[in-house]
Amino acid sequence: MIVVSNRIPTGESVSGGLVVALHDTLGCAGGIWIGAHPEPGIGEETLDELGLTPYRRLAFRLTEEEQKNYYLGYANSVLWPLCHRRGDLVEMRPEYGAAYQAVNARVARMVGKIARHDDLIWVHDYHFLPLAKEMRALGLANRIGFFLHVPFPALGDLSVLSQPERFADDLAHYNLIGLQTRSDVARCLEMFRADPRAEFMPDGGIKFLDRITAVRSFPIGIDTAGFAEDAAQEAVNPFGRGDPGRFLIGVDRLDYSKGLPNRFRAFARYLENRPAGSRPCLVQIAPPTRQQVRAYQDITRELEEIAGHVNGTFAELDWTPIRYIHRSVPRVELARLYRKASVGLVTSFADGMNLVAKEYVAAQDPKNPGVLLLSRFAGAAEDMTDALQINPYDVEDVATAISTALDMPLEERQRRHASCLDVVGRTDVTIWSTAFLRALMTCIPSMTFPG
Ligand code: UDP
Repeated sequence: MIVVSNRIPTGESVSGGLVVALHDTLGCAGGIWIGAHPEPGIGEETLDELGLTPYRRLAFRLTEEEQKNYYLGYANSVLWPLCHRRGDLVEMRPEYGAAYQAVNARVARMVGKIARHDDLIWVHDYHFLPLAKEMRALGLANRIGFFLHVPFPALGDLSVLSQPERFADDLAHYNLIGLQTRSDVARCLEMFRADPRAEFMPDGGIKFLDRITAVRSFPIGIDTAGFAEDAAQEAVNPFGRGDPGRFLIGVDRLDYSKGLPNRFRAFARYLENRPAGSRPCLVQIAPPTRQQVRAYQDITRELEEIAGHVNGTFAELDWTPIRYIHRSVPRVELARLYRKASVGLVTSFADGMNLVAKEYVAAQDPKNPGVLLLSRFAGAAEDMTDALQINPYDVEDVATAISTALDMPLEERQRRHASCLDVVGRTDVTIWSTAFLRALMTCIPSMTFPG
């Protein structure tokens, strides 16, 4: 098996949802993982060996221009906002699209040099939409699967692209298109249905020109048992002498898709009407991400302003309502924080899955669990119907839900938690990767291609 993703683990420590999931999959199945080297290069066509255990890791190098135009540009200033329903934040520049195509073509050539004819190739995420098309052009007839970790864009939103018709054509070069949720599948099928080049087969497959592709949902998950174990470990109190007492927790990369300003506003609204004597604290961990992109600089500034305003309004000499931590925290430590938190807050406006929601549930003590507030726009909400679902655009609704969660009787907390934990267990990360690979192995091979 050959896995291709933009990010790849470079050292001993493995963190981040996608990276952990693939690390475990390759650790069991063996294979090669290809991703971007953390150091820049000069556009070389060779892969650097990063390590051989427990599987082989190979890295391509991006030039500084490619990092700017392919990664920060086309991937994160065009495709990311497009998939997260923020067409208004799309920044279109000719050099972005050109670099994106060039990187995909170069990576395809490098994969082509090492792939054997019977290797399964599994490509990840929006950085590599055209990779299969580039590999097919080189004559690769392997089974190639694609998994999109972010939401599938709505048909209308695709018009933001300068050549929207390429989106379907690029995807149709994969034998299998894996998406997070059934709603994502519905949007993907809507795109193919609107395309005169596509034809629906009786078995649900899609015939696109001379190719056949399948579209299915595979909701991604976490290592549930491992995470619960980390959470339950007795360790030093992470707060030391500054224990906040009852607290709510939020953990998100500082991204505009996560609805952080509205989360802070809703917390402030809750504080205005809270019962006398109640002084809960919101612990928000929000590590910086993609800070070279203007939209991320803007959201960082906005959030800092709101946090300052809320704290200025409500803080007392011995109580700070929002503890805002603009740094990343290791997952083991997060696991323990989740367990101590009375409420977990997920307020995304759009989110492929949201693994934090699953981690929060897995980390709870089933005898005395906290309550998950979950945006109905996160992929996780499709199956976790017993979380306290909220509309993140409606600040009043979120404020009311915070109050409901903090007052929820034990029995209801236990019932909701058991139901959510059942979902987390059924969508465990090994179930996700096994289901995807099994589907890829059994789908129709690309016999129409010259091999
Ligand atoms: N995470 C982390 N440290 C942090 C913040 C986040 O390890 O300081 C991890 C978090 O535990 C989760 C992942 O990053 O596993 C975030 O995944 P999610 O699907 O919630 O959101 P994404 O960042 O992929 O949009």
